[in-house]
Amino acid sequence: MTEPALDFVIATLEKIRESSDRAPRASRRTLAQLQTANPVAASLLATPKSDEGGWEAHALPAGQRLQRGALNKAELLEPIRERVCACTKCAHLACSRTQTVFGVGNPDADLMFIGEAPGVDEDRQGEPFVGRAGQLLTRILKAMNFTREDVYIANILKCRPDTPPGSFGNRAPTPTEMQTCRPYLVEQINVIEPKVLVALGAVAVEGLLGMRGAMRELRGRWHAYNNIPLMITYHPAYLLRNQAPSEKRKVWEDMLQVLERLDQPITDRQRNYFL
Ligand code: URA
Repeated sequence: MTEPALDFVIATLEKIRESSDRAPRASRRTLAQLQTANPVAASLLATPKSDEGGWEAHALPAGQRLQRGALNKAELLEPIRERVCACTKCAHLACSRTQTVFGVGNPDADLMFIGEAPGVDEDRQGEPFVGRAGQLLTRILKAMNFTREDVYIANILKCRPDTPPGSFGNRAPTPTEMQTCRPYLVEQINVIEPKVLVALGAVAVEGLLGMRGAMRELRGRWHAYNNIPLMITYHPAYLLRNQAPSEKRKVWEDMLQVLERLDQPITDRQRNYFL
Protein backbone atom coordinates (compact mmCIF):
# COMPACT_ATOMS: atom_id res chain seq x y z
CA MET A 1 0.00 0.00 0.00
CA THR A 2 1.35 3.47 -0.86
CA GLU A 3 1.99 6.06 1.88
CA PRO A 4 -0.99 8.33 0.89
CA ALA A 5 -3.31 5.31 0.68
CA LEU A 6 -2.18 4.16 4.11
CA ASP A 7 -2.66 7.64 5.56
CA PHE A 8 -6.16 7.70 4.11
CA VAL A 9 -6.99 4.28 5.60
CA ILE A 10 -5.72 5.35 9.03
CA ALA A 11 -7.56 8.69 8.93
CA THR A 12 -10.81 6.95 7.92
CA LEU A 13 -10.47 4.32 10.63
CA GLU A 14 -9.80 7.03 13.22
CA LYS A 15 -12.92 8.94 12.08
CA ILE A 16 -15.06 5.82 12.44
CA ARG A 17 -13.66 5.19 15.91
CA GLU A 18 -14.25 8.78 17.00
CA SER A 19 -17.86 8.77 15.80
CA SER A 20 -18.76 5.41 17.32
CA ASP A 21 -18.22 3.62 20.60
CA ARG A 22 -16.92 0.52 18.92
CA ALA A 23 -13.95 -0.25 16.71
CA PRO A 24 -14.40 -0.65 12.93
CA ARG A 25 -14.82 -4.30 12.08
CA ALA A 26 -12.78 -6.38 9.67
CA SER A 27 -12.15 -10.01 8.85
CA ARG A 28 -9.12 -11.77 10.33
CA ARG A 29 -7.69 -11.97 6.81
CA THR A 30 -7.92 -8.20 6.35
CA LEU A 31 -6.39 -7.70 9.79
CA ALA A 32 -3.47 -9.97 8.92
CA GLN A 33 -2.87 -8.09 5.65
CA LEU A 34 -3.05 -4.71 7.36
CA GLN A 35 -0.77 -5.90 10.16
CA THR A 36 1.86 -6.63 7.55
CA ALA A 37 1.38 -3.26 5.82
CA ASN A 38 0.95 -1.19 8.96
CA PRO A 39 0.44 -2.39 12.53
CA VAL A 40 -0.94 0.96 13.68
CA ALA A 41 -3.78 0.82 11.16
CA ALA A 42 -4.42 -2.78 12.20
CA SER A 43 -4.59 -1.81 15.86
CA LEU A 44 -7.68 0.31 15.06
CA LEU A 45 -9.71 -2.71 14.00
CA ALA A 46 -11.87 -5.29 15.69
CA THR A 47 -12.03 -8.83 14.29
CA PRO A 48 -14.39 -11.76 14.89
CA LYS A 49 -13.41 -13.85 17.93
CA SER A 50 -12.41 -17.28 16.70
CA ASP A 51 -14.19 -19.33 19.38
CA GLU A 52 -17.07 -17.89 21.41
CA GLY A 53 -18.36 -15.39 18.82
CA GLY A 54 -18.46 -11.60 19.17
CA TRP A 55 -15.75 -9.14 18.25
CA GLU A 56 -12.26 -8.66 19.59
CA ALA A 57 -10.73 -5.18 19.60
CA HIS A 58 -7.08 -4.64 18.75
CA ALA A 59 -7.04 -1.06 19.92
CA LEU A 60 -4.21 0.95 21.41
CA PRO A 61 -4.96 2.27 24.94
CA ALA A 62 -7.84 4.75 25.08
CA GLY A 63 -6.85 8.36 24.55
CA GLN A 64 -3.64 7.52 22.73
CA ARG A 65 -3.51 9.63 19.59
CA LEU A 66 -2.74 7.60 16.53
CA GLN A 67 -0.52 9.59 14.25
CA ARG A 68 1.46 7.10 12.28
CA GLY A 69 4.28 9.49 11.46
CA ALA A 70 4.56 10.53 15.11
CA LEU A 71 4.84 7.02 16.54
CA ASN A 72 8.32 5.60 16.87
CA LYS A 73 9.13 1.89 16.72
CA ALA A 74 9.05 1.49 20.51
CA GLU A 75 5.54 2.96 20.53
CA LEU A 76 4.49 0.74 17.65
CA LEU A 77 5.63 -2.33 19.57
CA GLU A 78 3.55 -1.41 22.66
CA PRO A 79 0.10 -2.42 21.37
CA ILE A 80 1.58 -5.70 20.16
CA ARG A 81 3.14 -6.28 23.58
CA GLU A 82 -0.22 -5.58 25.22
CA ARG A 83 -1.99 -8.12 23.02
CA VAL A 84 0.71 -10.69 23.73
CA CYS A 85 0.40 -10.01 27.47
CA ALA A 86 -3.34 -10.70 27.37
CA CYS A 87 -3.13 -13.58 24.88
CA THR A 88 -5.01 -16.78 25.75
CA LYS A 89 -4.99 -18.37 22.28
CA CYS A 90 -3.12 -21.42 23.65
CA ALA A 91 -5.27 -21.92 26.76
CA HIS A 92 -2.88 -24.52 28.22
CA LEU A 93 0.09 -22.12 27.97
CA ALA A 94 -1.88 -19.14 29.25
CA CYS A 95 -2.64 -21.25 32.35
CA SER A 96 0.86 -22.57 32.91
CA ARG A 97 2.97 -19.48 32.20
CA THR A 98 4.16 -17.07 34.89
CA GLN A 99 4.10 -14.31 32.28
CA THR A 100 4.55 -13.81 28.56
CA VAL A 101 8.02 -13.06 27.21
CA PHE A 102 7.67 -10.49 24.44
CA GLY A 103 11.17 -9.49 23.39
CA VAL A 104 13.98 -7.23 24.50
CA GLY A 105 16.46 -4.77 23.08
CA ASN A 106 16.58 -1.90 20.67
CA PRO A 107 13.40 -1.45 18.57
CA ASP A 108 15.58 0.35 16.00
CA ALA A 109 18.10 -2.48 15.85
CA ASP A 110 19.74 -3.50 12.58
CA LEU A 111 20.19 -7.01 13.92
CA MET A 112 17.47 -9.25 15.36
CA PHE A 113 17.92 -12.70 16.92
CA ILE A 114 15.09 -15.22 16.94
CA GLY A 115 15.09 -18.06 19.46
CA GLU A 116 12.71 -20.87 20.25
CA ALA A 117 10.63 -20.21 23.34
CA PRO A 118 11.08 -19.02 26.92
CA GLY A 119 12.57 -21.53 29.33
CA VAL A 120 12.06 -21.61 33.06
CA ASP A 121 14.34 -18.60 33.73
CA GLU A 122 12.77 -16.50 30.99
CA ASP A 123 9.26 -17.38 32.20
CA ARG A 124 10.28 -16.20 35.68
CA GLN A 125 11.98 -12.98 34.57
CA GLY A 126 9.82 -12.04 31.56
CA GLU A 127 12.86 -11.55 29.33
CA PRO A 128 14.19 -13.79 26.54
CA PHE A 129 17.58 -15.48 26.80
CA VAL A 130 18.45 -14.82 30.44
CA GLY A 131 19.25 -18.42 31.46
CA ARG A 132 22.47 -20.30 30.68
CA ALA A 133 21.90 -20.30 26.93
CA GLY A 134 21.06 -16.61 27.16
CA GLN A 135 24.26 -15.83 29.02
CA LEU A 136 26.17 -17.54 26.23
CA LEU A 137 24.26 -15.50 23.64
CA THR A 138 25.21 -12.34 25.56
CA ARG A 139 28.89 -13.42 25.40
CA ILE A 140 28.61 -14.06 21.67
CA LEU A 141 27.14 -10.56 21.27
CA LYS A 142 30.00 -9.10 23.30
CA ALA A 143 32.53 -10.84 21.04
CA MET A 144 30.72 -9.22 18.10
CA ASN A 145 31.13 -5.84 19.85
CA PHE A 146 27.41 -5.58 20.62
CA THR A 147 25.43 -5.40 23.84
CA ARG A 148 21.93 -6.78 24.35
CA GLU A 149 20.72 -3.16 24.10
CA ASP A 150 22.14 -2.83 20.57
CA VAL A 151 20.16 -5.72 19.08
CA TYR A 152 16.62 -7.07 19.41
CA ILE A 153 15.98 -10.55 20.79
CA ALA A 154 12.66 -12.41 20.52
CA ASN A 155 11.33 -15.95 20.34
CA ILE A 156 8.93 -17.87 18.11
CA LEU A 157 6.76 -18.59 21.18
CA LYS A 158 5.95 -15.92 23.76
CA CYS A 159 4.95 -18.46 26.43
CA ARG A 160 7.02 -21.19 28.03
CA PRO A 161 5.90 -24.60 26.67
CA ASP A 162 4.26 -26.34 29.61
CA THR A 163 5.78 -29.49 31.09
CA PRO A 164 4.26 -32.11 33.40
CA PRO A 165 4.42 -31.11 37.10
CA GLY A 166 7.64 -32.24 38.75
CA SER A 167 9.47 -32.77 35.45
CA PHE A 168 12.78 -31.13 34.57
CA GLY A 169 13.84 -29.15 31.53
CA ASN A 170 11.95 -27.64 28.66
CA ARG A 171 9.97 -29.11 25.81
CA ALA A 172 9.99 -28.00 22.18
CA PRO A 173 6.98 -26.00 20.94
CA THR A 174 4.41 -27.96 18.91
CA PRO A 175 3.69 -26.96 15.28
CA THR A 176 0.24 -25.71 16.38
CA GLU A 177 1.72 -23.55 19.14
CA MET A 178 4.23 -22.10 16.66
CA GLN A 179 1.55 -21.37 14.08
CA THR A 180 -0.65 -19.72 16.69
CA CYS A 181 2.09 -17.48 18.08
CA ARG A 182 3.93 -16.68 14.84
CA PRO A 183 1.80 -13.65 13.86
CA TYR A 184 3.13 -11.74 16.90
CA LEU A 185 6.71 -12.29 15.78
CA VAL A 186 5.80 -11.31 12.23
CA GLU A 187 4.41 -8.03 13.58
CA GLN A 188 7.55 -7.45 15.66
CA ILE A 189 9.76 -7.97 12.62
CA ASN A 190 7.55 -5.70 10.52
CA VAL A 191 7.93 -2.89 13.05
CA ILE A 192 11.65 -3.34 13.76
CA GLU A 193 12.61 -3.89 10.10
CA PRO A 194 16.05 -5.29 10.94
CA LYS A 195 18.72 -5.36 8.25
CA VAL A 196 19.69 -8.89 9.26
CA LEU A 197 17.89 -11.69 11.08
CA VAL A 198 19.58 -14.59 12.88
CA ALA A 199 17.60 -17.78 13.52
CA LEU A 200 19.00 -19.68 16.49
CA GLY A 201 18.37 -23.39 16.02
CA ALA A 202 15.97 -25.63 14.15
CA VAL A 203 12.79 -24.50 15.92
CA ALA A 204 13.43 -20.86 15.00
CA VAL A 205 13.98 -21.96 11.38
CA GLU A 206 10.79 -24.00 11.32
CA GLY A 207 8.78 -21.25 13.00
CA LEU A 208 10.03 -18.52 10.69
CA LEU A 209 10.48 -20.27 7.36
CA GLY A 210 8.19 -23.27 7.84
CA MET A 211 11.12 -25.45 6.84
CA ARG A 212 12.66 -28.48 8.52
CA GLY A 213 16.14 -29.70 7.82
CA ALA A 214 19.44 -30.77 9.28
CA MET A 215 21.06 -27.84 11.06
CA ARG A 216 24.50 -28.87 9.80
CA GLU A 217 23.21 -28.22 6.27
CA LEU A 218 21.10 -25.14 6.99
CA ARG A 219 23.56 -23.17 9.12
CA GLY A 220 26.25 -20.91 7.80
CA ARG A 221 24.29 -19.92 4.71
CA TRP A 222 22.18 -16.92 3.87
CA HIS A 223 18.46 -17.48 3.58
CA ALA A 224 15.72 -14.82 3.44
CA TYR A 225 12.61 -14.00 5.37
CA ASN A 226 10.41 -11.42 3.59
CA ASN A 227 13.46 -10.12 1.70
CA ILE A 228 15.42 -9.71 4.95
CA PRO A 229 18.73 -11.65 4.90
CA LEU A 230 18.51 -14.45 7.44
CA MET A 231 21.51 -16.30 8.86
CA ILE A 232 20.84 -19.68 10.42
CA THR A 233 23.12 -20.85 13.18
CA TYR A 234 23.13 -23.29 16.07
CA HIS A 235 21.14 -22.46 19.20
CA PRO A 236 23.46 -21.49 22.11
CA ALA A 237 21.97 -24.41 24.09
CA TYR A 238 23.54 -26.71 21.49
CA LEU A 239 26.95 -25.18 22.23
CA LEU A 240 26.39 -25.76 25.94
CA ARG A 241 25.72 -29.44 25.23
CA ASN A 242 28.57 -29.75 22.74
CA GLN A 243 31.59 -27.79 23.94
CA ALA A 244 33.91 -28.77 21.07
CA PRO A 245 35.88 -25.71 19.84
CA SER A 246 35.03 -26.73 16.27
CA GLU A 247 31.30 -26.20 16.96
CA LYS A 248 31.97 -22.83 18.64
CA ARG A 249 34.01 -21.84 15.61
CA LYS A 250 31.09 -22.70 13.30
CA VAL A 251 28.74 -20.37 15.18
CA TRP A 252 31.46 -17.74 15.25
CA GLU A 253 31.96 -18.00 11.48
CA ASP A 254 28.23 -17.49 11.05
CA MET A 255 28.47 -14.36 13.22
CA LEU A 256 31.44 -13.09 11.19
CA GLN A 257 29.22 -13.33 8.10
CA VAL A 258 26.56 -11.34 9.95
CA LEU A 259 29.09 -8.64 10.89
CA GLU A 260 30.25 -8.44 7.29
CA ARG A 261 26.68 -8.12 6.05
CA LEU A 262 26.14 -5.26 8.51
CA ASP A 263 29.37 -3.57 7.35
CA GLN A 264 30.79 -3.78 10.87
CA PRO A 265 34.59 -3.60 11.21
CA ILE A 266 36.19 -6.93 12.13
CA THR A 267 39.55 -7.10 13.89
CA ASP A 268 42.16 -9.84 13.27
CA ARG A 269 41.60 -10.99 16.84
CA GLN A 270 37.91 -11.44 16.11
CA ARG A 271 38.68 -13.34 12.89
CA ASN A 272 40.87 -15.75 14.81
CA TYR A 273 38.50 -16.66 17.66
CA PHE A 274 38.27 -20.43 18.32
CA LEU A 275 40.91 -21.30 15.70
N1 URA B 1 16.06 -20.49 24.55
C1 URA B 1 15.33 -19.82 23.64
O1 URA B 1 15.20 -20.23 22.51
N2 URA B 1 14.78 -18.68 24.00
C2 URA B 1 14.92 -18.16 25.22
O2 URA B 1 14.39 -17.09 25.47
C3 URA B 1 15.69 -18.88 26.13
C4 URA B 1 16.25 -20.03 25.79
